[in-house]
Amino acid sequence: MKSTSKLGSMTFRKDPELTVSFYDGSILDTEVDAIVLSASKELRINEEIYKELIKRGNSSAIKNAFAVVRSVRPPGSIHGGAIIVVNVESCDLSWKNLLLAVEPDSFHVTMACKGLFDTVHDLGLTSIATIGFGCGSLKVDSKKAALKLKEAIKQQIEDGKLDKLKEIGIVDRSCSVIKDFMAVFELKVDIPEVKPNDDSSILDFITLDQVNDDVCVICLGELSDKSHFVVAIKKCNHMFHHNCFESYSNQTTLKRCPTCQVFFALPEGNMPRGSTMAHHVITNGGINLEGGRGYISIDYSVPSGIQEATHLRPGVPFHGTHRQAYLPNTPEGHKVLKLLEKAFECRLTFTVGDSITSGAQNVAVWNNIHHKTTLHGGSFGYPDADYLLRVTEELRAAGITEDMTNK
Ligand SMILES: [Zn+2]
Ligand SMILES: [Zn+2]
Repeated sequence: MKSTSKLGSMTFRKDPELTVSFYDGSILDTEVDAIVLSASKELRINEEIYKELIKRGNSSAIKNAFAVVRSVRPPGSIHGGAIIVVNVESCDLSWKNLLLAVEPDSFHVTMACKGLFDTVHDLGLTSIATIGFGCGSLKVDSKKAALKLKEAIKQQIEDGKLDKLKEIGIVDRSCSVIKDFMAVFELKVDIPEVKPNDDSSILDFITLDQVNDDVCVICLGELSDKSHFVVAIKKCNHMFHHNCFESYSNQTTLKRCPTCQVFFALPEGNMPRGSTMAHHVITNGGINLEGGRGYISIDYSVPSGIQEATHLRPGVPFHGTHRQAYLPNTPEGHKVLKLLEKAFECRLTFTVGDSITSGAQNVAVWNNIHHKTTLHGGSFGYPDADYLLRVTEELRAAGITEDMTNK
């Protein structure tokens, strides 16, 4: 195994002192309170690293420590981005704890970084070593991972936490990953050579001499403070810190520029993935809606699953649903069908929540776009002369308009 070498170090906080150091090599060669390792949702770590642990410490105690954490967390109960603590104090290893970062892919890296330092604070650790989150097989951009890690440390310090932590080691076998981390942590480095490549159809990355807005309207901080990447929305050229824009965009369904309100992307809801929508025109049932011949029947199917970060209770399982809805078989009815299909494409039709009608928790529910679920009378049925206009309005409010359906 090649030896670990220190490539650089910086003082991240002065009082009490917190140092961040960067190493090229194996995380197993560090002497700290806890090391951070990637793990699968079944809490398995890289085979080679596991074998090495077994070789270095008390193998039965190590096996037992892993068995204990697995036994209290049944399969399916662990979500990506979670941090799981394995106590290895009695395993004759160099550390007290292993912190398992569960599948910190680009979707969960923010959650993993925050969770990591929450855990470090809660356990009162004085020194930790971590790998570059997800930069290996999960293919997270190393500068993005570095940025998330840095933001998470900053945020904790701003919240008055991590007062016991003195030392963070960032260790990776890939020298280029470590250099990317160093570039992001070094406040002197101003322009990234490699730009994070997500959002590239929507955003331009801006170099400092191109910055012509003064402040980021999301955080009201200076755009030219050199510690953040700056992006501009392609459509309107308004500029923001990349991290501010990203969290803004992740939290809003309507993708509008915070400065000028232009739509920079299609809206995106959080309808469970894998949902389906199909429709049929029924003309032989003897029922005609709103003057059309027969009616349109729509079938929605939402599979059960685990709630995502934007749902009510992330990581908790939810129940899917099957729903039917009906529209008149008229030109107006078909227009609304197209809008509903667009809304479905944008994951706006359903969300996960608690049902007001049944009181059931963690179920797939309609998401503010009202559907007619019966062919007969009552507020969920027909006749209802204003329904098509009302639902068109609701769709407009959700960011779905007729011009989108002509493409
Ligand atoms: Zn900002
Ligand atoms: Zn704008």
